[in-house]
Amino acid sequence: MTHAVVLGASMGGLLAARALVGSYDRITVVDRDPLPEDGGHRRGVPQAKHFHTILLRGEQALDGMFPGLTDELVAAGALRVGFNVDARFVLAGHPMVRADTGASDIQTTRPMLEGAVRAKVAQHPGVRLLPEHDVVGPVFENGRVVGVKVARDGAEEVLAADLVIDAMGRSGRARAWLASLGLPTPAEDRIEVDMMYASRLVRPPVPFPDKLVLVGPVPGRPTGFAFAAQEHGQWMVTQVGMAGDHPPTDEAGFLAFLERSAPPDVLDAVAASAPLTGIRTHRFPASLRRRYERLRQFPPGLLVFGDAMCSFNPIYGQGMTVAAMESEALRKCLRDGEADLAGRFFRAAAKIIDPVWQLNALGDLALPEITGHRSLSTKALNRYVARLQRVATHDPVAATAFIRTIGLLQPPSSILRPDVLARVVVGGVRRS
Ligand SMILES: Cc1cc2nc3c(=O)[nH]c(=O)nc-3n(C[C@H](O)[C@H](O)[C@H](O)COP(=O)(O)OP(=O)(O)OC[C@H]3O[C@@H](n4cnc5c(N)ncnc54)[C@H](O)[C@@H]3O)c2cc1C
Repeated sequence: MTHAVVLGASMGGLLAARALVGSYDRITVVDRDPLPEDGGHRRGVPQAKHFHTILLRGEQALDGMFPGLTDELVAAGALRVGFNVDARFVLAGHPMVRADTGASDIQTTRPMLEGAVRAKVAQHPGVRLLPEHDVVGPVFENGRVVGVKVARDGAEEVLAADLVIDAMGRSGRARAWLASLGLPTPAEDRIEVDMMYASRLVRPPVPFPDKLVLVGPVPGRPTGFAFAAQEHGQWMVTQVGMAGDHPPTDEAGFLAFLERSAPPDVLDAVAASAPLTGIRTHRFPASLRRRYERLRQFPPGLLVFGDAMCSFNPIYGQGMTVAAMESEALRKCLRDGEADLAGRFFRAAAKIIDPVWQLNALGDLALPEITGHRSLSTKALNRYVARLQRVATHDPVAATAFIRTIGLLQPPSSILRPDVLARVVVGGVRRS
């Protein structure tokens, strides 16, 4: 009987566990939190109180793993929101044309989404959830991970395992475990964004015409917001402030901060809405990427997954979609056998992460408030993207290219396709 243990039962851990189905007889998913059946909030996922979008690419991956999942979510009240038909984007200060880009997202509160995915994973025979167990550390034998020590109420237990996956989020421990064994540790890339989220759920008094309004930061105002429909008539108001320009949490301050970026109809709707929760905050100091794919030496029997490998700037809404893509990659790696599993998986994951990281860095570094090295190509690309965003205010082809690229439906090079480039050059000149 083969046994795999996944450490962390958030979206990353659950999607890693799904990839293991069919390759291991038993799969245990450990989390230190109770895992509420009603999909409620829990301490280990504090970000769940803020806007969480599943992009169309993530939806496709989720439906591949759990056929019918997103339709079931929609039937239960989640929204499938068409970009830009039902969604209004103002990026870098430019309101994007309301064309059908073919892209979309699924909007639910994060606990509803995670609860549904957890229920699907738990349905697989051989999968066991182990809540309220703290991960103490791995068990090594002859340089290989052969299990993991967990603790509940002070009582420790060893779970013997053929494979252990660290999916404990950005505080994931694999790096420290490598260091404790005297093994090389992965380099860390960081983009300091000094960001704060402040969010609350509200209920507008009258139906709001769009399903999502998203206004991004602009140079000189590193703040923005999302006003997003959620299940059962709830709306999430999420404000973000980067580079230390953080949203306040008192009622008047929250609305005053929103005034800096929101159009009048959103301001009016939020001001008139009934609050369903208090204003909750989340601090995000930096995007963080651990370069496991560059290690020459890594203990067999161990993998790292999800935010433990790369924690993206959340304003781009890509973390769960990337985790779903990593799950697809892990499944494929497992099908190809056990030899050098970690090396093959880390390289496959790096191919997924690379373009997303670069795209996000480009967005972050377009703000003069964000510190970081700007190469000549970064500066040139950012000038191009700024022009593309201007053209996308009236040109559906430019808007579609941009939205589908940041939605991870196509590679970043797509915004340089000749048809898009021509429009950017001509349209940019015409409108500037
Ligand atoms: C404010 C914010 C907004 C975001 N918005 C979006 C969005 O719109 N779209 C999107 O796709 N992504 C978004 N993300 C990213 C998304 O939340 C993560 O990518 C996603 O949750 C996958 O992360 P993970 O499962 O790898 O780690 P986490 O979600 O951090 O989960 C780690 C898990 O490990 C458990 N754990 C930790 N330590 C231990 C231990 N010692 N013992 C046992 N268990 C332990 C925790 O309880 C938790 O369940 C956002 C992130 C933030 C911070």
